[in-house]
Amino acid sequence: MRRPLIAGNWKMHMPNAEAVTLARQLRARLRGLSHCEVLVCPPFTALTAVAEILTDTEIALGAQNLHDRRSGAFTGEISGDMIRSTGASWVLIGHSERRQFFGDTDEWVARKLLAALESGLNPIVCVGESLEERDAGKLESVIQRQVHQALETLSDDLLARVTLAYEPVWAIGTGRVASPEQAQEVHALIRGLLSRVGNSRVADSVRILYGGSVKADNAASLLSQPDIDGALVGGASLEVESFKGIVDALQPSSTSSFQ
Ligand code: PEP
Repeated sequence: MRRPLIAGNWKMHMPNAEAVTLARQLRARLRGLSHCEVLVCPPFTALTAVAEILTDTEIALGAQNLHDRRSGAFTGEISGDMIRSTGASWVLIGHSERRQFFGDTDEWVARKLLAALESGLNPIVCVGESLEERDAGKLESVIQRQVHQALETLSDDLLARVTLAYEPVWAIGTGRVASPEQAQEVHALIRGLLSRVGNSRVADSVRILYGGSVKADNAASLLSQPDIDGALVGGASLEVESFKGIVDALQPSSTSSFQ
């Protein structure tokens, strides 16, 4: 049984004062989480402050990127060990904005993934096709390349620690969400690819999140798909009630334990 995960990616938003306010609101509004895990990924600058607020809550903390080396002369970079030292335990890797604007290639993504695992972080590896790739019939080959290059060297034990996020680039920040059927089709493809990398038990246990314009009003239909194990949320994670609405979408209303 895969436990659903709802992860918020705050991107380059939330200077410290705003991050602290949002973290306090989340702490107050997301109590008694039992049906899913919740994670927030603030910018590096806010990790320590947010970690203090989220201590002793069920809300986990992650970073949005890391460097693939543990330390060294890499001006401006942040290592996995540094992320751990803030109190964070998760990290996003290969988000499409990193691939698109900062040169994160499949090879970099694979190296960053190993670095994250070495530092004891829980990685979320993002994959997804652009609109041009989808329209050109390259969806499968793109996803296959991204998944294989990131994961092919991992043992089953390491693979079991990975979470994947399918984020079609054309759906990120655009308001254009993949239909539940479109998303499920790709998640099932990824699940099949996982069973070629690891044994079937591990492939079945790896969570695959959907990301791309997830909002409270479309979350339930996406999250009800059999291979969609949660959501990676950008814009809607920046406001407490819209993020809570997505977390609530996972919960059958009759058993809601939220305040
Ligand atoms: C994201 O940043 O990973 C994302 C999916 O953004 P949005 O929800 O705004 O589309």
